[in-house]
Amino acid sequence: MHDQKYNPYEQMLEVMEKSAKMLNLDTRDYEALKYPERELKVAIPVEMDDGTVRVFEGHRVQHSSSRGPCKGGIRYHPDVDINEVKALAALMTFKCAVVNLPCGGAKGAIRVEPAQLSKNELKRLTRRYTAMILPLIGPEKDIPAPDVNTNEEIMGWIMDTYSMFKGFTVHGVVTGKPVEIGGSLGRREATGRGVTCIVEEVLKHEGIQAEGARIAIQGMGNVGGTAAKLLYNRGCKIVAVSDVSCGLYCESGLDINDIMQYIECKNGRRLLEGYPAGGSIRRIGNEELLTCDVDVLIPAALENQVTEKIARQVKARIIVEAANGPTTVEADRILEERGIIVVPDILANAGGVTVSYFEWVQNNQAVLWREEIINSRLEEIMLQSFKDVMKKAQDYNTTLRMGAYILAMERLVKAKKMRGIFP
Ligand code: NAD
Repeated sequence: MHDQKYNPYEQMLEVMEKSAKMLNLDTRDYEALKYPERELKVAIPVEMDDGTVRVFEGHRVQHSSSRGPCKGGIRYHPDVDINEVKALAALMTFKCAVVNLPCGGAKGAIRVEPAQLSKNELKRLTRRYTAMILPLIGPEKDIPAPDVNTNEEIMGWIMDTYSMFKGFTVHGVVTGKPVEIGGSLGRREATGRGVTCIVEEVLKHEGIQAEGARIAIQGMGNVGGTAAKLLYNRGCKIVAVSDVSCGLYCESGLDINDIMQYIECKNGRRLLEGYPAGGSIRRIGNEELLTCDVDVLIPAALENQVTEKIARQVKARIIVEAANGPTTVEADRILEERGIIVVPDILANAGGVTVSYFEWVQNNQAVLWREEIINSRLEEIMLQSFKDVMKKAQDYNTTLRMGAYILAMERLVKAKKMRGIFP
């Protein structure tokens, strides 16, 4: 997935440096933010169903705990590497600061293609990984959550494993769990719901009606699938969608309810593959999806998708980054020159960590909030954060990405100054 030149951690540092310059910060104010606080690499042995043993590489990186306990997802993917995990951990630090949560940033990953493992192998892998990162995680220290290829069931196994070691049930060690064992209502849809709020706000800001607005979505997993469903119900015209198996395009708008039903009812991998095309629906590739003529493009799959080459061909007026790090730094420059609005990941997909934070608060207080309360608090935070980022971008005459980083850097530097450097 990653070409040799692409180092997501260096890309993150470049953006951070730029925001620090715009804020006229002294390097001593943010020097520590250039380095993750802790990195743990583990070799995870798993007994496979056929009796053989395979060893998988795993990581947990805590980037910053200046504003509170670290928070960040766990990803299962065959291409993950340490620079990606470090970059994703840092993005979590900035994201939590943008939406003003009392949390820091972390990320975990296992280098694995989960589709090639049986459920029992996946369970043993998850439990052993949890045991090996146990010294780092905990409700007061670092609270994992779902990310690419991980879900509620896997979060439940993590909670159970951690609890077995402690000798009692610890709900607050992980978020995104099943509701029956301490999960929060609304968490599953939270990231996609937050993305939908942001799409509506940015359309309003640009004077485009949400009803009938043309939208393309890359990735139909937890985030992309939920955003597709909510935007479709809101009256938007979803003209293109894709996942790792294929893409679909329909000039007059796809029937998202039918597509979601197809994905959800297919056993196993929940893919678009095999969805009946023909008539007004045709199959498209990734590049065509990213460059089709729409009002809003929503990358909701992986990083490094909107590259320089793609950025030159993008026809969307607005890009809302539902995925983490989908746009390279070079591509970002091109999009800025071309006047294309980019709502950055650290704002656009912050709905997930926001409701994860709500879940953690509910766990700590042993209460359960109603779903309407969760959704309305989420909406309030997303809208306020959009306004705050927009104001910073206007005050500094810069992009929304730099506005978001400026806002986050101000909050992080303030927290660091107030705490001082130990000893
Ligand atoms: P997921 O595993 O549920 O879905 C990922 C989707 O991307 C799948 O549809 C998959 O087929 C598709 N995909 C993978 N490779 C692709 C490719 N090369 N081309 C096109 N599609 C491809 O993951 P998710 O939780 O929806 O996460 C998606 C993105 O959102 C990631 O960048 C993740 O870090 C970010 N994110 C997730 C959450 C969350 O709460 N789950 C929160 C914030 C950010």
